[in-house]
Amino acid sequence: MKKILAIVLFFVFILILAPFFIFLISRPDKMSDDNKISVYIADEDKVEEMSITEYLTGVVSAEMPASFELEALKAQAVAARSYLYAHAAAGDETHHGAAVCTDSAHCQAWISREQSAENWGGDSDANYDKIHSAVLSTADEVVTYNGEIADTVFHSTSSGKTENAADVWDSPVEYLVSVDSPGEELSPRYTSQASISKADFIGRIKDEFPEADRTAPLFENAVKSEAGGVISADVCGVNIAGTKIRSIFGLRSTNFTVTEDGQMVNFSVTGNGHGVGMSQYGANYMASAGNDYKTILTHYYSGTKVEKKKTM
Ligand SMILES: [Zn+2]
Repeated sequence: MKKILAIVLFFVFILILAPFFIFLISRPDKMSDDNKISVYIADEDKVEEMSITEYLTGVVSAEMPASFELEALKAQAVAARSYLYAHAAAGDETHHGAAVCTDSAHCQAWISREQSAENWGGDSDANYDKIHSAVLSTADEVVTYNGEIADTVFHSTSSGKTENAADVWDSPVEYLVSVDSPGEELSPRYTSQASISKADFIGRIKDEFPEADRTAPLFENAVKSEAGGVISADVCGVNIAGTKIRSIFGLRSTNFTVTEDGQMVNFSVTGNGHGVGMSQYGANYMASAGNDYKTILTHYYSGTKVEKKKTM
């Protein structure tokens, strides 16, 4: 009887603890750049398996110019790796079951080695080696906040100050707060202009907000963040979020002013992208001033650390 009890207890023990041990064994692999990842390649409509190193090299190639400083590319590699672990969702239906996709509007942009070689032309090997080395020399490193992998969102160019996540997405994140970002004026996308006729302006607003009033002021009462981004404004009598106004008019950022000139409405825009987290041009400026990738990352992600992932 005792023997049967011992056997039963043994199997109960195995059943309860086996998943835990499998988790412990499998986790280091999952958390290593050598591990494979499934990637849904959106423009080819196929899923491909590749090493995380290869995936990240393709992300950095797509997300940042190869001409940038090596320390900026390393910062981008670590941000891309952290973003991957914070967002990868195996089995996601929009990824056809893969962990990530190559659609920049959904996951991170990614480009194959062949495609980037075409874009780079004669500099192809040197550019690839530079970006590949940025990924290899930061192997397994991620940005963490209180021990958890941080959601390392990034953008092209800020206004000279990054945005608070709370002002852009309505949800505060302790490490995604506004910081100074000098050197942005060196970005070719620092300022931009857009113009639209008043009639088209009102038409586009009414398409999204049928209650909009044609006789109300076109744009007033803008509430701005400390970085200068429009949080919300009254547009044709309707209070609309800055991010929505940006998308309706295809503006490069929410940091804009509006002027009326005869029958035209003119937007004057500063920065490129959502403005939250690391600015890529700001990172390049910091690198050119002699800062290393860890200094760059911990500047843009306040209160974070850069560390190798715990492999338990
Ligand atoms: Zn995706």
